[in-house]
Amino acid sequence: MPLLASHEILLLSSCLIIHSSSHRTPTSVAYCSVECSLSCHPHQRHREHSRKNRRRFQNPLPSNSIMATSPTPVDPIDVFWHEGMLKHETGTGVFDSGMDPGFLDVLEKHPENSDRVKNMLSILKRGPISPYISWHSGTPALVPQLLSFHTQEYINELIEADRNGGKMLCTGTFLNPGSWDAALLAAGTTLSAMKHVLDGCGKIAYALVRPPGHHAQPTQADGYCFLNNAGLAVQLALDSGCQKVAVVDIDVHYGNGTAEGFYRSNKVLTISLHMNHGTWGPSHPQNGSVDELGEGEGFGYNMNIPLPNGTGDRGYVYAMTELVIPAIEKFEPNMIVWVVGQDSSAFDPNGRQCLTMNGYREIGQIVRSLASRHTGGRLLIVQEGGYNVTYSAYCLHAMLEGALNLSCPLLSDPIAYYPEDEAFSVKVIESIKQYQQDTLPFLKGA
Ligand SMILES: [Zn+2]
Repeated sequence: MPLLASHEILLLSSCLIIHSSSHRTPTSVAYCSVECSLSCHPHQRHREHSRKNRRRFQNPLPSNSIMATSPTPVDPIDVFWHEGMLKHETGTGVFDSGMDPGFLDVLEKHPENSDRVKNMLSILKRGPISPYISWHSGTPALVPQLLSFHTQEYINELIEADRNGGKMLCTGTFLNPGSWDAALLAAGTTLSAMKHVLDGCGKIAYALVRPPGHHAQPTQADGYCFLNNAGLAVQLALDSGCQKVAVVDIDVHYGNGTAEGFYRSNKVLTISLHMNHGTWGPSHPQNGSVDELGEGEGFGYNMNIPLPNGTGDRGYVYAMTELVIPAIEKFEPNMIVWVVGQDSSAFDPNGRQCLTMNGYREIGQIVRSLASRHTGGRLLIVQEGGYNVTYSAYCLHAMLEGALNLSCPLLSDPIAYYPEDEAFSVKVIESIKQYQQDTLPFLKGA
């Protein structure tokens, strides 16, 4: 999705307003100011510390090394996939605009291109995690199945756009020839993965799908998304007898579509940890702030955790520990849907967060442990964003290692070294916690 980073974090807790711009400097420079003497040129200091940080944050093993070889007997992750999803062509242009300004010799691929998913596929097939993966083929969703989340009018609009050869539905979101079939496959593949878990055929299923879905609202495409794959799966779980479903979305952008779909329901707790990007136009009117809490019966069942830019491994784990775990403990879901995007990584063109493989691995362990405690281990993982073609695949590998709860990492991090401004993240998370404990009915006294 489009990058419209807001530098202002508005927290309504006790009228506390924190302006991030007044607190933060670019992390690398801030790091240098602490670590360096005053004697060297700032740029030189930065370069030296980038190298120093690289050594400090990297795993000791060389790039590409495999850290463990013999798999121990653990339940595999059931991965659902269909190659037809590669046929969604998003074109080239200036970033995600589809625009050729005429003065650039090289137009880049749209960030949501098939290469990113090809690498996710191949790392699971040929990476060290491959012995722990069981493969399943997805199938396209049928139009009536889509109506559990989307309106008939909206689906008709998509069918009509496909019939007419394509349409830009909103900024950066192109339905081209082949896109509709891919979208139906993404939705159907996610439903197959959820059904697999609901039927007791496996505990952990991962829907490796594109186009992504968590911005798609019941009546509106948004942020590269047409159909809300995770939302459809949540509704299938409810329709199959699950009383309560928790959604934990760690894509770097607000999972506004999923939140919107269940905004008036107390059967679905939607939790989103995201960059504090705010609204980005008519297709995305929600701003992802802490005070978007749900409505009616659903009041208090939408938890937004807008994290300051630069939040990394320690900040995310702090937010999971202080906010997500207590909420899930209290909500006691029968099913957990983990909505994942590797665009929260330190190297993503579409995000400004600093997660590394270690952070994704640790979050995976936390989510796995929540599932073990509350859902009998049942967990659906749904792929969303993640636009660095290489690092997204590595981070996916790490997060699934975490979900498998393997005792040691299988794959070292080839590039992680960014420092993290932990203090500011902790301050913001504490403010969110105070606000939510005062406001969300089911969290009172937690
Ligand atoms: Zn995203």
